[in-house]
Amino acid sequence: MNSYISRMLDLTQQRNANEPEFCQAVKEVLDSIAPVIDVHSEYEDFAILERMTEPERIVTFRVSWIDDNGKIQVNRGYRIQFSSLIGPYKGGLRFHPSVNQSIMKFLGFEQIFKNALTGLPIGGAKGGSDFDPKGKSDNEVMRFCQSFMTELYRHIGQDVDVPAGDIGVGAREVGYLFGQYKRIKNAYEGGVLTGKDICYGGSLARKEATGYGLLYYMREMLAASGQTLDGKIVTISGSGNVAIYACEKAYKFGAKVVAMSDSNGCIYDENGIDLDAIKQIKEVERGRIKDYLKFHPEAQYIEKTGEDSPIWTIKTDIALPCATQNELTLNSAKILKENGVIAVGEGANMPCTLEAIDFFVNNGIPLAPAKAANAGGVATSAIEMSQNSMRYYYTFEEVESKLEQIMINIFNSCKDAADMYGCSGNYVKGANIAAFRKLADAMIAQGIV
Ligand code: NDP
Repeated sequence: MNSYISRMLDLTQQRNANEPEFCQAVKEVLDSIAPVIDVHSEYEDFAILERMTEPERIVTFRVSWIDDNGKIQVNRGYRIQFSSLIGPYKGGLRFHPSVNQSIMKFLGFEQIFKNALTGLPIGGAKGGSDFDPKGKSDNEVMRFCQSFMTELYRHIGQDVDVPAGDIGVGAREVGYLFGQYKRIKNAYEGGVLTGKDICYGGSLARKEATGYGLLYYMREMLAASGQTLDGKIVTISGSGNVAIYACEKAYKFGAKVVAMSDSNGCIYDENGIDLDAIKQIKEVERGRIKDYLKFHPEAQYIEKTGEDSPIWTIKTDIALPCATQNELTLNSAKILKENGVIAVGEGANMPCTLEAIDFFVNNGIPLAPAKAANAGGVATSAIEMSQNSMRYYYTFEEVESKLEQIMINIFNSCKDAADMYGCSGNYVKGANIAAFRKLADAMIAQGIV
């Protein structure tokens, strides 16, 4: 292995020993870019990897709020401003009890590369809190969001850092966050948050963008090996924003989605998942996937009992992990292969373990990597920012056609980079190399900062 990369892998491990997710994300990138480092010794002279793996700034803060019983609650807030190389810091906020610094840093690191692939002027960031919105009343969520923003506002701005949603942060949370920001700043800075509701400055097609974008990428990847989505069986983990709109687009492309999940288990409906029922359960009632049986008693519910999600034991042509990190293990990858999977598309961030990725790649199963395949969300967020700046809005069709073109461009960048560096068909390496080259050159151009 290249000596610079091997030294950097050791250093990352030493300096971030208690951050396994962050070390995993860095390892995936560093393992991929060896052929670039081999022919660009100047990257070592300019300490590109040392700088690229260290966030520009980490902010952590206390979030105190009062629950409906009048009891004081305290959570921890984060904002990792990882890189402003090619634009204002940009990346979502996650509210989930599992949130910690390692998860925030891995997501922020991934975001730099993803945002570079979009071709749009956005840097990389991530933030959130260990607050769990599940089971909280609207008023509790509002009080939490207001307290969170009362600290966060001093670190963000439409030309500084632009947060958006992620797990546990949807239109409701973004609305409460925006309202508090506006109140504190006494200014209507529409572009300070994305994922806003349409009625006060959001973009049409933003809600759909990550899931739709994933399917556009999958369409291009399948086409590269002469296949289409038409008639394919698809399983999608999760039943949140990304999963729902991935399902919607899969149907539009003629595929049949037979299973979806949440953190408790999955449903299997051999007739094809009834997406209206899922939307009613998840977007309106904020219920559990098991509630699907109330709509379709003939479907099957499989409870999650061990570490691996039961959804990956279901026979499928195309697997789309759209829930969370490390949800698809080597064990699940092997079962998917035995069952004849022909392609995998990462809708969530880092949903496949490193071992699962290697297994798919080594067995010739095309894998659409998260930082490329789910970039449609942040790309459309950037389109939302530009609409806010113009004070003018595009139609749904206009935004979607820009999204489609961006996803085609991203796929082509991954493919071209893989071809150029001798790893054709390995889109994981292709994505990392294409993004890395752009960022490394920008870093050299901007001097030692
Ligand atoms: P949502 O909160 O809307 O949905 C998350 C879904 O994943 C839920 O069904 C949830 O189930 C499930 N889930 C969450 N945590 C776990 C877990 N630990 N184990 C099993 N299932 C889990 O989030 P999004 O759909 O927005 O995000 C999903 C993924 O996509 C994340 O990795 C996110 O970072 C990524 N992503 C999102 C983008 C966006 O635009 N929203 C953009 C790019 C990437 P439950 O309800 O039981 O918790």
